[in-house]
Amino acid sequence: MANSVVRVGLEKVVLGEHDLAILTITTGTQRPRTDYYLLGALPSDYGRGYRLWPVRAGQPPYDLLLDGRRSSCECLGFLRHGHCKHLDALKELRRRRRLRTRCAPVGSAQASRTEKHHA
Ligand SMILES: [Zn+2]
Repeated sequence: MANSVVRVGLEKVVLGEHDLAILTITTGTQRPRTDYYLLGALPSDYGRGYRLWPVRAGQPPYDLLLDGRRSSCECLGFLRHGHCKHLDALKELRRRRRLRTRCAPVGSAQASRTEKHHA
C-alpha cells in the first residue's frame, strides 16, 4: 500500500501549561513523505482520546479515539476506508509504549476530569 505508515516519531514538548508532543508520520516506501502534527490528549468517556493538529496552514485538527475495535479518527481516510495513517501511527506508538502521555486535556488547562464543562 502506498499509504502505509513506514515510520513514526514522537517528541515530547511542553508549551506553557500544555504538555504536547510532536508526532511525525512517514508514509510510502518509494517516495517517503513525512507529515508533522502536534499531539494532545482529549477527555474521553471510554478509551483514550487524542487530538492531532497538522502542522500545515489551513488544516483542521483530527480527533482520534483509541479503544480497540471502536478506535476511530475524524479524517476522510478513516471515514472512507475504516483505517488511516493517524490511527496506525498512534497504535504503533502504543505498541512501543510511547503513548503514556499525560497531556493536559485540550481546552481545559486545569480540569483533570473527563467531563466537559462548556458554557
Ligand atoms: Zn485519520
